[in-house]
Amino acid sequence: MEAFIHADHYHFIQEQGRSIVQAKVQSTDKGVVQAVREMALEKIANKLSDLNDEQKQLLIDMKLIEDKEGLESFLGKLKPYVIPFPAVSEKTVEKAFPKVKKLKQPDLEDYDLQETVYLRWEDLGTNRTYMLIPKQGKLVGVSGFLETSVHKGICTICGGLSEVSLFTVEKKGRIRGTYSKKGNYICKDESACNHNIKDIDKLHAFLDNLQ
Ligand SMILES: [Zn+2]
Repeated sequence: MEAFIHADHYHFIQEQGRSIVQAKVQSTDKGVVQAVREMALEKIANKLSDLNDEQKQLLIDMKLIEDKEGLESFLGKLKPYVIPFPAVSEKTVEKAFPKVKKLKQPDLEDYDLQETVYLRWEDLGTNRTYMLIPKQGKLVGVSGFLETSVHKGICTICGGLSEVSLFTVEKKGRIRGTYSKKGNYICKDESACNHNIKDIDKLHAFLDNLQ
């Protein structure tokens, strides 16, 4: 069986699995736990539509989750079927940022590509933050400045409450020499942000808003 689960959906399944474990801890009523289980499976089925029988079979093991260890083992079995973020070549990265000279390349070894919905890295020399965002089979490049100061807030990309910083993207205006700036608060921690993406829609809305 080929990989068929997108990273954001994998995170969604993780969240649903955690809700089952939590229900088990909080309730001794078997009916309640069963209801949470059924609901989790239904939500997953709605999100991951068009599954074949083999794929469904893999996910249905969610019914067997009893505790944290069970959840970990279930997720371990799913992981080989998560579609990794593409191992981009230097050329692909350069193509996404045609105007940037001396572009800093991401070090792909620093990432768990199966947990990566969008690729984000920093050039500490120029203080620039780069992103590659998958959209409609393409990778769209975004670059900007991420402030060093952090505060608690909602991240525009993942929608989670976390330690966020202001990310500013400059855009050339129609009149030569003019710029417009767009700022969004996003998770300071790239990995935490990726793990928190359970639906790619917010990431796409963030991207659309910049363009
Ligand atoms: Zn985030």
